[in-house]
Amino acid sequence: MNLVHAPPTGSMAESSPQTSPRGEHARLGERASADAVRFLVAAASELPAHLDFDSIAEGGEPLAHMAEVRLAAHPCPAGVLLGWRCGLTKPLSLVMDGIDAAHPAARGGSLVAALGGSLVVRAKGEVVLRLRVSGPQNTEIGAIERLRARLRFTHVRMAPGDPSGLAEDPAVVHAAVRDAVARANAVWGACGVSFGPPRDIEVTTVEPPPPHLVAIGCEHGVRASGGALALFVDGALIEVMVERGMRPREAARRLGRAIEARGFLVRMRDNPRISVGADGTTDLSVRTAAGALATLAPPPSGGVSRDATLGACIGGVELEDGLQHFGDVDSAVGTLEERTLIAAYDDFDPTTIDVIVVPGFARGGRLGESFIASDGGGTKNLVVLDRLGIYASRASSTLAHELGHVLLDEPAHTDDDGADTPARLMDADSSDASAFGPRRLVIEECVRALRQSGRSAASPLLSPWPLE
Ligand SMILES: [Zn+2]
Repeated sequence: MNLVHAPPTGSMAESSPQTSPRGEHARLGERASADAVRFLVAAASELPAHLDFDSIAEGGEPLAHMAEVRLAAHPCPAGVLLGWRCGLTKPLSLVMDGIDAAHPAARGGSLVAALGGSLVVRAKGEVVLRLRVSGPQNTEIGAIERLRARLRFTHVRMAPGDPSGLAEDPAVVHAAVRDAVARANAVWGACGVSFGPPRDIEVTTVEPPPPHLVAIGCEHGVRASGGALALFVDGALIEVMVERGMRPREAARRLGRAIEARGFLVRMRDNPRISVGADGTTDLSVRTAAGALATLAPPPSGGVSRDATLGACIGGVELEDGLQHFGDVDSAVGTLEERTLIAAYDDFDPTTIDVIVVPGFARGGRLGESFIASDGGGTKNLVVLDRLGIYASRASSTLAHELGHVLLDEPAHTDDDGADTPARLMDADSSDASAFGPRRLVIEECVRALRQSGRSAASPLLSPWPLE
């Protein structure tokens, strides 16, 4: 976080505080979130003995107060009238929360601040300066004032019907989502990035989707040897022939046209070939003309494919046993269950980040995962979070971490090459909630986020949100 000038209010007759010259605008260790700043006061007559600081949020709520910060006599810089006196404060850091404020490196000189908020400086009780809190000012691509990304949350229940237990209560989940967004705002504020006011975040609670998606080629994308594909779409039987040598994507188009001819809407998505696959597969997600998800079913005689080699798999979402998540082999594509879930609730808007909250992942151990543009898969700008990941985000940075993969368009972690980076947000272990846990973004990451997700990017997720 950094400071920018805003027109000062109050009397400037006697003293004219100003932010310190460039050389004294120091960063504190590796802590991008805690750029330190010193204040230099020039006074025509008597120098105030100290300054008082108030940090307030954009909405006006007080965040921190620091009284009686001593002004030590200091030579006046060029431009100050002869005979005036100058005083300089100790370095003050702006930090994201009380945990950072208590960090040994910041102790004594740190104020909790929020992107878009203000720092109000008083001398002898009078406001002498008001500064807005913005993103980093000195980067290789210039100053980052404030950027905004739009999040769209979908909370998926375990099963259709009544919510089972408190953890499923939409009000509880929505409150946890807002807390997690506030947390992500605090972490990403270091880069000048905001996800908007948490109270404005929309969360839609939905039931698991019906089996509305069929993957032609199943997983491995083997070509046809000659046969047929047949399935029921909302009770209507639809059948097409496939010829020997036909690729999954060709067979999918033939089936898609046949489904559309019956009045349904088909969204087709070609998946990249997985590393052990013969060819890419193609997903068909089917909706009624009114836009409701259709229900697909195989013929009673057996599977959808009546071809010896070309597979056709209907995707289902069964969350009682957790969401089957991708592994190394299918990370770009996602599992069939994930694709069925995502195709149901992704808004396919390249300027928003969809966050789908599920009751849990299968096999445990995973709190969140992200689908990013550079994976080359059909899904991008999308995060799937375990509900526990949302609850954990209140104290740790699970949501901020997964959003980091999306904004940075970077699947890797800062510690992938073996060097331990426990304090960095993009460290692989994002569950430590202490000041030493993963929460820091460095300037290079701020720059990368703007390059990968700014206005000129293929997926422009970050738009300027000027400070008023
Ligand atoms: Zn990660």
